[in-house]
Amino acid sequence: MPIEHSKPAHRHTECDMQNLSHSDVGSVQLCAHCGVVHVNLNYLSVKFTLEAFRELACMLVCAQGRIDAQPSDASLQTGATGDATALH
Ligand SMILES: [Zn+2]
Repeated sequence: MPIEHSKPAHRHTECDMQNLSHSDVGSVQLCAHCGVVHVNLNYLSVKFTLEAFRELACMLVCAQGRIDAQPSDASLQTGATGDATALH
């Protein structure tokens, strides 16, 4: 989903980037100027509007909840259960 910046020449290097969260897999930053949430992964950076990021967060939490609700199966990789609780 494309982000509509009010100024085409807008440079995020000059924005007030606020660190919201980070973990082993990446980080989340908020550009206070244009209200864009940056999700930074190892080789990927995705921008979301605040509304889209909220939907993404709900979707991820919902998906994780379904994973956790499944009976532990040997075919599932459950070695990283400690990581899930570390993400807040
Ligand atoms: Zn910005």
